[in-house]
Amino acid sequence: MDFSHSPKVEALRADSRRFFEDLIYPAEARYQHEIEEHRRAGNPWQTSQVIEALKPEAQRRGFWNPFLPYSERAPQGLSNREYAPLCEIMGRVPWAAQVFNCSAPDTGNMEILERFTTPEQQLRRLDPLLAGEIRSAFLMTEPNVTSSDASNIRCSIRRYGDEYVIDGDKWFSSGAGDPRCALYIVMGRTDPAAKPGKQQSMVLVPASTPGIEVLRAVQVFGYDGALHGHMDIRLLGERVPVENLLLGAGRGFEIAQMSTRTRPHPPLHAHPRPGRARAGTAVPARAVAGGVRQADQRSQRVARADRRIALPDRVGTAADPEGRGRPRT
Ligand SMILES: Cc1cc2nc3c(=O)[nH]c(=O)nc-3n(C[C@H](O)[C@H](O)[C@H](O)COP(=O)(O)OP(=O)(O)OC[C@H]3O[C@@H](n4cnc5c(N)ncnc54)[C@H](O)[C@@H]3O)c2cc1C
Repeated sequence: MDFSHSPKVEALRADSRRFFEDLIYPAEARYQHEIEEHRRAGNPWQTSQVIEALKPEAQRRGFWNPFLPYSERAPQGLSNREYAPLCEIMGRVPWAAQVFNCSAPDTGNMEILERFTTPEQQLRRLDPLLAGEIRSAFLMTEPNVTSSDASNIRCSIRRYGDEYVIDGDKWFSSGAGDPRCALYIVMGRTDPAAKPGKQQSMVLVPASTPGIEVLRAVQVFGYDGALHGHMDIRLLGERVPVENLLLGAGRGFEIAQMSTRTRPHPPLHAHPRPGRARAGTAVPARAVAGGVRQADQRSQRVARADRRIALPDRVGTAADPEGRGRPRT
């Protein structure tokens, strides 16, 4: 199999590397300083002014929303194979993806909104996300169940007239700590009596819905998840209009399959990690604030292994077994 990049991808890689050299690496020390200031102030999840200042330049250079797969909205959309090498470059600096509006969970959420919402919902929710003005969170994982198998999710989404009423505890909701987080996509059960694959649904819940409680930020191995905030959230009888249910009752797994949330999303989400190593790049020789960074042996092993990973360029679904017309689902 030929793993070489197309001329189009090589050009994008060169552009993004230049962006990093010109703007991202020189901003690392400023960003670190800013985060430490936020931590000292007791809120490391505040909006980063360093990132906000870089976004207009990313837009100006056309390096904006490259995650978006091909669609009418994104005729230049990239396939998995084209996007993955860019993830690797963006991963060289942990916070950099947000400069290009490519940070999780917004990327997966924007794909869901692009495919499964009405034009009116897109105008209100998707456009501000695509513009990088608001953020979003995906609320699936629950503290009391084995959430790696999402058929266990217990959050209840019950219909009463023209509304759905939502009750559930969610945690590790990344992005919900950001003060600009305006929208949650919540996964929960609409029909506990249905077959396991047909019980779960996804519903749009504005973060401003009265009564929602953001209880705390969950730590990961002692880290605070600065910038995003992995939040512990309680939904206690919150009501949303029935139009907020995506695709249809019991179709949550279909959405997950047809978007990047659970299909190639994990490899794409993981792909920046080898980039963190900066192995095989000019980085080991490059001085950054605080000294020269050397990719350690472990990182180099990760990077070597990564070169053997082949991402599926097209992934089929039950509805579209060949993955036709859907390069990155
Ligand atoms: C940094 C970070 C960000 C996250 N962001 C989000 C987010 O934005 N939204 C969200 O909803 N969630 C998020 N999560 C949560 C993540 O999706 C879950 O942690 C993951 O799905 C695993 O679920 P769990 O924690 O319930 O673990 P469990 O499902 O309880 O699994 C624990 C362990 O048991 C193993 N295990 C489970 N079932 C079996 C079995 N039947 N047999 C053998 N072994 C088994 C698993 O492999 C695992 O090793 C995030 C997590 C992290 C760390």
